[in-house]
Amino acid sequence: MKFIPAGEIIGSAHQVRTVNIAKSSELPDGDYTFVDTYCTTSTCDCRKAMIQVLHNGKCVSIINFGWEKPSYYEKWMGGSSGDGLTTSMHGSSIDITSPGVIGVIVSY
Ligand SMILES: [Zn+2]
Repeated sequence: MKFIPAGEIIGSAHQVRTVNIAKSSELPDGDYTFVDTYCTTSTCDCRKAMIQVLHNGKCVSIINFGWEKPSYYEKWMGGSSGDGLTTSMHGSSIDITSPGVIGVIVSY
């Protein structure tokens, strides 16, 4: 799977979202930018986005988001693995390669 920013796929129509967080008890103050990336491997049908969270230009977290139902991922991965991996691709989760869990919670 190769993920690239949406802006490289659709150009100027893409909008990057930035939120400013101040005086949080869990996060450092500053701007947090969310860069959504999508799989561009033509033979892959993972149907997920990986959202990079940047703080002061540094990637501080990576959020996975699979927009299909859990049953899609189970079928796509060839059946349930029994460890919850197939169903965990559905919805949002912090990626295992994320630089660190910073307390960002995304609801689906
Ligand atoms: Zn993919």
